[in-house]
Formats: sequence, C-alpha cells, structure tokens
Amino acid sequence: YVRAIAPYQSGKPIAEVAREFGLDEASIVKLASNENPYGMPDSAKQAMIAAIDDLGRYPDANGFELKAVLSQRYDVPADWITLGNGSNDILEIAAHAFVQHGQAVVYSQYSFAVYALATQGLGARHLVVPAQAYGHDLDAMAAAIGDDTRLLFIANPNNPTGTFLSAAQIEAFLQKVPQHVVVVLDEAYNEFLSADDQYESTAWVRQYPNLVVSRTLSKAYGLAGLRIGFAIAQPVLTDLMNRIRQPFNVNSMAQAAAIAALDDKAFLEKSARNNAAGYQQFTEAFTALGLEYVPSHGNFVLVKVGDDDEAGARVNLALLKQGVIVRPVGSYGLPQWLRISIGLQQENAIFIAALTKALA
Ligand code: PMP
Repeated sequence: YVRAIAPYQSGKPIAEVAREFGLDEASIVKLASNENPYGMPDSAKQAMIAAIDDLGRYPDANGFELKAVLSQRYDVPADWITLGNGSNDILEIAAHAFVQHGQAVVYSQYSFAVYALATQGLGARHLVVPAQAYGHDLDAMAAAIGDDTRLLFIANPNNPTGTFLSAAQIEAFLQKVPQHVVVVLDEAYNEFLSADDQYESTAWVRQYPNLVVSRTLSKAYGLAGLRIGFAIAQPVLTDLMNRIRQPFNVNSMAQAAAIAALDDKAFLEKSARNNAAGYQQFTEAFTALGLEYVPSHGNFVLVKVGDDDEAGARVNLALLKQGVIVRPVGSYGLPQWLRISIGLQQENAIFIAALTKALA
C-alpha cells in the first residue's frame, strides 16, 4: 500500500527556489501554500513568548485551556473536541479511528490530496467520485456509499479548486448518508466565506452523530508553521479519535498561540478583507488575460494557463524564474492549471506581472 502512495507535493520552499534560480530570497513571492500573507498575528507571537519558559515541560496532552476557548467559541462541550497537529493530523486520526483494511473511503476527484494519503496506507479501498464543475457531486458521492464504506471526506470550500457547497446542499446530503459512514466535513477555509455563504456546521454536529467537522488555524489564523487544527464531533466519535491520537500531538507553543489567535478578531477581519480584495485583483487580471478560472471561496484561485498538458509545468517554471512560487496541480489531474494563493496587494501585482510575461 505504501508503494502505491503518490508523495504529497507541497509548495517549493523560498530558500530552495532562491538557490536553484540564483535569486535573492527577499525578492521571492510565495503564493503556493494558501498561507496567510500577513504571517502570524502579533497576539499569537506575544503568547508564544510568554509560553517559552514552559518548554521544559510536556504540553498539556488534553489541551485543557485551548479546548475551553474552543468550547465557548463553538458552543460545544470540551469532550466534543479533538486537537490535531494541523488538520492533516485530524484527517489521519479519523482515518485510523474509523477505517480498517479493505473497507471503503469515499472522496471527490480534485479534492484535497491528504484524503488519499491518510487512508491509502491503511489498505482502504478508495472510491473517487468524478467531480462536477470542479467540485463535489454530492448525489454521486451518496450513490457511491456501500455497506463497507466507513469514511467520506468533503472539503468545503474545496482545495485546490475553491468550489463551495451551500448549507442546503450539505444538509440534504447529511440526511441521506447512512449512520455507518463517518462524514468528515473539512472546513479549512471556512473563515474566508462571505457572510452570505457562512453556515453553522456545529449545529449539524449536534444533529448528526456520524459527522466530524474539521478546522485549522493554518489559514485565516496565520499559524501554519505551528501545526494546529481541531475537530468537533459528538462524544462517541471524539472518544474514539482521542484514543488513537498521539499523546502530546499539539505542542505547547501552538496551544498558547492558538488561544491568542482565536481571540484576535481584528486579525481575522483584516485577513478576510485582504482576501476579498486580492480575489478581485486576481479575477480581474485573469479576465483581462482571457484566462479561465474556477470561482473560488477560499484564499486561492485555480486558473487555466494553457490548453496543453504541459501548460501548468511550463508556466510554473517561467514564474519560478521570475521569483514567483505558485502551486502546479498536475498531481491532482489538472496539468493545464495552476493554483495561486491570494497574497498582499503588492505580491499579487508582482505575480500578475510575472504571469503576463510568462504567457506573452
Ligand atoms: N484541508 C484542506 C482542504 C486543506 O487545503 C489543508 C491545507 N492544505 C488542510 C486540510 C490541512 O491544513 P493543516 O494541516 O495545515 O491544518
């Protein structure tokens, strides 16, 4: 099973690109990993400085204080929360808790690569449901469920396509899913949703005992490097997930930073505002360049940079030579496309100029 796993391709690190292309690190713009362009919030930095003296001790294995904050924020008891070393860890914990060798896992074509990674090594059978307009086809996903299906992943918004399912669509789907299937609703980009699109997934957790909602502090909260995510589910599932979770999977600096970041409304709002402005900047530029893009609800946009299957790799290389790192998505079966994370206005402008030159 392990040999069959395609390695995860992350955005190229700045230092590597600088070395490979003979560029100054400071001049490089990285819009490749859906990170927060403001970096980490200052409030989190201060909390980490205050927490540094505790590093001689193990972290709180059960994240008592952080869970108390999350519990209040999401209006669920602390025993409905599982902490993860990034939400990737949550995805893996769910896979280990709910799927055994030979059982089936359902997810969509063009959905997040870690669904395959987290379950393949377990020897699970993969039911990859063809996408519809680059997003989840929920009817087809429901139809794919069999007696031996144990886990189903939905990313909303989806990465790398940015597609979005409305609350009504998800709710109708949850009503159809049989109880022997655990649904992981991965909301890594939830905080970027507009007020009109926003919905209350924790209310569904109360209603559906087979639902796990997964969140992260890597994106809107700007803590990608610290690795912290969490899941909300009813106690029966949460208990199973916590049994399989590595003790001390979330370090003490991450716990301290997360508590501060969750309380930093101003940072979150600034990030969402910048994202909305950057999305407009990107889509106007793509339209002016005559490029097709998938309307996105996340902090990134998938754009088609050519009609041949070398286009993504070719344009990516031309961008790298100009010091702009984006994310090729050939490994997702989208070789004509690139995924660009939304950065600060100036970074976006540098990318747009480089793309214009690359396509000329
Ligand atoms: N889910 C989705 C849909 C993502 O795009 C990502 C980040 N690439 C993650 C989960 C995992 O993020 P993290 O492990 O940093 O929380």
